[in-house]
Amino acid sequence: MKGRTRVNHPPDVIVPADNRPLVAPIHQTVKFAFESLEETMRAYRGEREGYYYTRQANPTSRQLEKLLAELQGRDDCIALGSGAAAVSGCLLSLTRAGEHVLCFVETYAPTRQLIQGLLGRFGVEHTMLSIEDDAGIERVLAGRPTRLVWFESPTNPVTRIADIGRITRAAHAHGALTVLDNTFAGFHNHGQYGIDVFVHSLTKYASGHGDVMGGAIIARDELIRLMRRDTVLLGALLDPHAAFLVMRGMKTYYLRHEAQVASAARIAAFLNDHPAVAQVNYPGLASHARHALAREQMHDFGSVVSFDLEGGLEAARVFSDTLEFFAIAPSLGSVESLVMPAQLLKPRGLTAEQVAISAITDGTVRLSIGIEDTDDLIEDLDAALSRVSEA
Ligand SMILES: *Cc1c(COP(=O)(O)O)cnc(C)c1O
Repeated sequence: MKGRTRVNHPPDVIVPADNRPLVAPIHQTVKFAFESLEETMRAYRGEREGYYYTRQANPTSRQLEKLLAELQGRDDCIALGSGAAAVSGCLLSLTRAGEHVLCFVETYAPTRQLIQGLLGRFGVEHTMLSIEDDAGIERVLAGRPTRLVWFESPTNPVTRIADIGRITRAAHAHGALTVLDNTFAGFHNHGQYGIDVFVHSLTKYASGHGDVMGGAIIARDELIRLMRRDTVLLGALLDPHAAFLVMRGMKTYYLRHEAQVASAARIAAFLNDHPAVAQVNYPGLASHARHALAREQMHDFGSVVSFDLEGGLEAARVFSDTLEFFAIAPSLGSVESLVMPAQLLKPRGLTAEQVAISAITDGTVRLSIGIEDTDDLIEDLDAALSRVSEA
């Protein structure tokens, strides 16, 4: 065999079945081969185990899917190239023209834009309420056949809490599927409710290090089969190298989460006592409008804290620019702390009434708490708040 042939037919490395690597290997390959056409055809027809083409399935991505399904407490998972790919894949594969989707003013902005724009173009209608409008939710579901209720809890950035029990009961009474984008709360939360589909951005807490993007759809087998058919065709399955990085991040998911949540709780309490801060949004605070409900629904309250500065846009700018340990950057959930001032949070494409419902003001600031020393972070926040008061 000449070198130029050998490079494409490398020597086999056999890993015996009873000799497992402790870290799942990266199957960085697009194609998988069997010894014969017959076995290839059998695998293709689903008559035997095996892989064929990585756009359809890959063992590394599959490992991540199985892990995430189990952590969220559902049958199966589809891992995709970003959280947005999970959102769009789920929306496109579960709806058809003429159907109706119930979503919320507080819904993650790109999701809202997909529902308003792309789904709208394909003839899917929607109603948008506030996530706290329980009576309105029940009224809409009773009044109109609805395919999906799409929601988040806590919401971004003001950490509103959905009454998940009430929403799922109303949805199921009227034949609607519930989809919970559980990115903020995490895989260890909300599994006890009758949620049909969970969606996650793996870019956030799952990978945890801000170095890889991914998304996941988690549901019972029947729904995953339906969605896998379409999402494979949409072509956004997670790359095996990215799947490996997310899996590496997942090894420290619970440890990171615990540290970040503990730090966020202390920071929320600090902000709550500070005179320059008008209002703190953190479900773990007794002053949060739905603190009792959050306590009932969640194991912990997350590591996103938002608050309102008295001084509006200029105060938000001075505050963000003064911080040393918080980068002004999008995204959240990573090991490093981040800040997003109102200038970057202002909702677009909403009516004045909806903007009022969103409760995002000129002085709103969102913090994503990382794993730095909490005393350092509080000192940094204190210095920035003093600067705001001086200005
Ligand atoms: C970030 C985010 C997404 C989108 O995830 P990407 O990985 O950035 O595409 C979806 N939903 C929520 C709640 C998010 O925070």
